[in-house]
Amino acid sequence: MKNIKDFSLEELKQEMQELREKPFRAEQIFQWLYQEKVKSFDEMTNLSIALRDKLKENYTICNYKIIQKQESKDGTKKYLFDVLDGNAIETVLMQYHHGYSICVSSQIGCKMGCKFCASTGIHFIRNLSAGEILEQIIAVEQDENIRISNVVFMGIGEPLDNYDNVVKAIRLINHPKGLNIGARHISVSTSGIVPKIYQLAEENIQCTLSISLHATNNQKRSRMMPVNKVYPIEELLQACRAYIEQTNRRISFEYALAKDNNDHLQDAKELVNLLKGMLCHVNLIPINPIENGAYTKSSNENIIKFRDYLNENGIVATIRRELGSDIEAACGQLRRKNL
Ligand code: SAH
Repeated sequence: MKNIKDFSLEELKQEMQELREKPFRAEQIFQWLYQEKVKSFDEMTNLSIALRDKLKENYTICNYKIIQKQESKDGTKKYLFDVLDGNAIETVLMQYHHGYSICVSSQIGCKMGCKFCASTGIHFIRNLSAGEILEQIIAVEQDENIRISNVVFMGIGEPLDNYDNVVKAIRLINHPKGLNIGARHISVSTSGIVPKIYQLAEENIQCTLSISLHATNNQKRSRMMPVNKVYPIEELLQACRAYIEQTNRRISFEYALAKDNNDHLQDAKELVNLLKGMLCHVNLIPINPIENGAYTKSSNENIIKFRDYLNENGIVATIRRELGSDIEAACGQLRRKNL
């Protein structure tokens, strides 16, 4: 059966016509799904019983079951959701002073093979649909009785490897009749699938693009991230420049610092040379070591030196606060778990 949250408003109007219903029914359904966040068609009380029955026959409302919920000392919460086909995914809720931020997964597993990331150890199963991506936000808002104000595509999976569903999900998250979260409060993070960066630039969405850079030369980056063998740094940065040109949006570069790997002053110098003059920001992440991984965290002292060097040389850099590491909810620690 079709998941009713997989449709854009236009598509749902089309569906209503096929069911011989008036298109405005789609708007009512949207209201119930995304403002009221109901879990059943029976709760859509301004629809006739006959229409509710028709909807039940044709669609499901994908309601995730919470398999596990863990809470960190810092208030971060990690959910393990049953996505209703025997698979499970993780989603993380973080609280900042400006509101709640959610880190969503876009795929069940990941194909990219980054050496430092826990999602790598599990093989790829499938893409999440737009509705399945959205449902993570709705399920957490319902569970905590909160309104989420920021969405980051930094959970399991490579968002640009599931391009169509991710773009559709972003539009639904952003739509005034959808979840109505401002595009500037939505970030998409990519390991660097160059053709899709050009494509995203054309979508006319004001979301933030984050690039997982992590190294400043191809030899080192290819060792950490196999995708670099297909799309090397020069091509990646050229795509980023085109993205900035097209969207006028600042790009955020993620750089996870691993001891004695990419945390030397020389690396900081190379990073300045690469990013000089670009409308960008560097997010430094102390790398989170994973089981059997080759990388360990840089010292705080090194991380601060690295940040200061960038800032003194014209590149705006901040150190990302580590949240949820005690419940394996920090960057790169998410995995698909079997039920
Ligand atoms: N596939 C996308 C999004 C998921 S990862 C991407 O690669 O961008 C979200 C961020 O966490 C990425 O910047 C990723 O490189 C980073 N990350 C992965 N493993 C990490 C680890 N062990 N420590 C710190 N950051 C990590």
